[in-house]
Amino acid sequence: MQKLTRRQQPKAGNRLKRRRENLLLFNEQAWARLTVLERDGYCCTRPGCRSRRDLEAHHIIPRSRGGTWEPENMTTVCADCHRKITEYRVRVTRVGDRLEWERVR
Ligand SMILES: [Zn+2]
Repeated sequence: MQKLTRRQQPKAGNRLKRRRENLLLFNEQAWARLTVLERDGYCCTRPGCRSRRDLEAHHIIPRSRGGTWEPENMTTVCADCHRKITEYRVRVTRVGDRLEWERVR
């Protein structure tokens, strides 16, 4: 590998720092997903579904609206139910310590 000049070193350091931060973030998010799936018993949480296939973690308050990666803001849904949520056909909200599901017309 080519030796870096003194002037290049800080830049490479920043790049490594950014990569490290991205990797940590990626791991945190993967960990958050696993935590949520584990908590929910590897089962879709939408009443009447309970699928165990193609599970994903859904952000109850979307990240775009400031929703966090805390498990309280996430629930396990199957890909089908997740699609219904993202297409605004189903809505899920947190009310206290439980989730409220409703069909949207
Ligand atoms: Zn489902």
